[in-house]
Order: sequence, then C-alpha cells, then structure tokens
Amino acid sequence: MYLSLGNKKDIVSFKKALFNGLAPDKSLYYPIEVQKLSEDFWKDLQKMDNFSLALAVMKGYINEEIPEESLLDIIKKTLDFKFPTVLVDENIYSLELFHGPTLAFKDVGAKFMSACMDYFIRNENLNKKITVIVATSGDTGGAVANGFLGIDGVDVVILYPKGKVSEIQELQLTTLGSNVSALEVDGYFDKCQEMVKKTFVDKDLSEKLLTSANSINIARWLPQMLYYFIAYRDLNRRNSNLVVSVPSGNFGNLCAGMLAKKMGLPINHFVASTNENDTVPKFMKTGTYEKQKTISTITNAMDVGDPSNFVRILSLYNNNFNELKKELTAYKFSDEETILGIRELYHKSKYLLDPHGATAFLGLKKYLFNNPETTGLFLETAHPVKFLDTVENALNINIDIPQHILELKKKEKSKIQIREYKQLKSFLLSR
Ligand SMILES: *Cc1c(COP(=O)(O)O)cnc(C)c1O
Repeated sequence: MYLSLGNKKDIVSFKKALFNGLAPDKSLYYPIEVQKLSEDFWKDLQKMDNFSLALAVMKGYINEEIPEESLLDIIKKTLDFKFPTVLVDENIYSLELFHGPTLAFKDVGAKFMSACMDYFIRNENLNKKITVIVATSGDTGGAVANGFLGIDGVDVVILYPKGKVSEIQELQLTTLGSNVSALEVDGYFDKCQEMVKKTFVDKDLSEKLLTSANSINIARWLPQMLYYFIAYRDLNRRNSNLVVSVPSGNFGNLCAGMLAKKMGLPINHFVASTNENDTVPKFMKTGTYEKQKTISTITNAMDVGDPSNFVRILSLYNNNFNELKKELTAYKFSDEETILGIRELYHKSKYLLDPHGATAFLGLKKYLFNNPETTGLFLETAHPVKFLDTVENALNINIDIPQHILELKKKEKSKIQIREYKQLKSFLLSR
C-alpha cells in the first residue's frame, strides 16, 4: 500500500497509485512500509537470473494485485535487454543502462509501467480511454512513448521543452504517431512539469482519466531499484565497500537506489552528481531546500531546478538531515568539467561516456579521492550517440550510429507547439 506524502491518511493500492500518478493533494505516493529482504534472498542472490531477482524484489510492492505469474511476464517484458557492469578504470565500474530500445535507462521504468497498466486495462475492461501525460527533459518522452506505443485504451501526450532536447531525442518522441502526441512547449522542463501537475488538479479535466508517467509515478520509479541489485550481484563483492554515483536530475533513479539500500542492499555510500542545476548539492551544504530556475546544460536530462523525487529521499531518512548526510554526498559539475571527464576516460581507456554518465564518473572520482578503500560504480544512463554532437565535439572523432537510429532520421517529425497551460487544456479537452 502507498500513502500520499502530503496526507498520510490517504492510503491507496498499487493499482490506484499507478493510475493516479500523483495523489489528489498533488504530492507523491510512497510505500507505507519498506520491507527488508529475507536471509534466503541474499543466500540465493548469486544464483538468480534477472527475472527471479526482479520478482523477489518487486513482489512486495505489488502485493498480489497482479498475480505472480503475470508479474513475472511483465518483468520479462521489461528486462529484455542487458545491464552490463564494465571495468573502466582502476576500481571504477560503469553500469551500462542504455541497452534498451530508446538508449537510456528510463526504458525500464517506462516498460514496467506500461505493462502494468496494460495488465489492469485488459483484466478489468475499462471502457474509457486513459490519457498518460508526461513532461520530459529529453529521455523520458521517448521511453514512455515507446513503452505505450500501440497499447489499446491508452493515449500518450508528451510535453518537451523547445530547443532543449537533442536531435535524436526529438526524433524519438515525434516520429511514432499512432497513440502518441508530442507537444513542444516554449519554456524549460520545469514549465512542462508544472503544466502536467496542473492538469491533475484541474476540475474541468477530472472526467478525463489522466495519469502521469513521470518518475513521480511509482511504477516508473520502483523498478529502477533493480539496476542496483543486478550490479551488486554481478560485481559479487559482498564485503567490499561499494559506492554508487548517480547522475541526477529529478532524483528518481538515486532515490530508487536508496530504497534498495533500505531493503538491505549493502551500498556504503551514494554520490549524487548534478550539473549546474545544483539545488541538491546546495541543500547538502546548507540544509535548506531552495528550488531554482532551470539552467540549460549539455546534460539536458538533468536540467531540473526543483527535483520532484527529493521529498521521497527525505522521507527515506525521516527528514533527518544528519542521517542523510552520512549516506549521501552531492557534487555539481559544469559543462566544461563534464567535457573534460568525457575526454579523460576516453584517452585513458577508450571508454565512451555520454555527458550524463560523465558527470557521474566525475562525482565518483571526486569521492574516491578521499575514500580510496572503496569500489566505485557509476550509472551510465544514456548511450553516447544520444548526445552525438557533444561527444563527437569533445573527442574530435566520429561515432558509429546504430542502424535503428539512422532509420529514425528518415522519418518526419510531428508535433504541436504550445506556450501556455490554456493550450494544453484545450488540446486535452478536444480529444
Ligand atoms: C533522466 C535522466 C537522468 C536523471 O535521472 P533522474 O531519475 O531524473 O534523476 C540522468 N541521465 C539520463 C541520461 C537521463 O535520461
């Protein structure tokens, strides 16, 4: 069961939280209880494949609302690509999360969420269309669109900030057609996110069965835990100190890692690596959370000035700043530093980083410098070709583009331009 972080008496099922997205009071859902995994789980972990691991970790959060057999099917659909950990530098591993269909880590959450909704829609004969609405800083849109493409009974509406996403990202969201519409918003990601939140409390839209597919949705957020479990199993270092650095924007991915830790996963310390949007690094210094205006950077998927999931992190630590500080360090990096990070690792070991992974690499190195007795893992959240210009310019090389991306470039983009909430609303009402 899940409670609303704004109203702890508002308790809902997994299904309800999945379809609501946000609680009626506009705040986020959060599991009522975080259960520790059993001794047996840890004993068996080395022998488990990704599917049985995922089932063991996730089933407590679904609480039999989806029978185990069907949940396993959903998991198989979700984790149908690989998650390799690659040694890239002395004692530093990259966890590659970009082998999914849209080349960024968000594919896992998006696929899991769409498969869960599909399950409930099929089994309960909902005869009304559901509209999944999502704001994207770049990667979410493509992943969600891909996850929900062609699912009966679901319309997908994506809002993305004009001129702030990469060419490949824009192609991924604007060329699908079918049940997917792309709205190009004149403004930053935070404006898109604001607009999305507004639709949920708009009385005129209350008939519309709207739901969100941002990482605020528990079904997108929770399966991200699996990366950490998979990497931990693959590194097989039960007794070494493991530090994990996460390139962070809306802080869903990091928060999922922290939840995994709370379930018993032995991660010693987390590093949040951000770009100039340093609301959280500032908070970790001062203890005061002040949202900021978004700054555009080369790591656009992390251009978030008011990260939605940070309240969930605070909840995990019972809002105890000192406890949080023991387990989380946050650093910010400028675009120039990020480019140097890409160059450094390429020249050292020929490993290609995307800009987001590069900030995580830098954060990890900075932390390890003062804590050398630890094993470092950073999350490489996107394929470098997704940010082709940046990476090619940084290294002065040409990168091979996968065939399915080349195909994308032949397609026509289809999008609707908007600048105000009013326009979003009339778009939704017209459907
Ligand atoms: C979304 C995204 C991030 C940030 O993840 P959050 O969960 O929002 O913190 C980092 N890197 C890439 C490539 C992304 O797409």
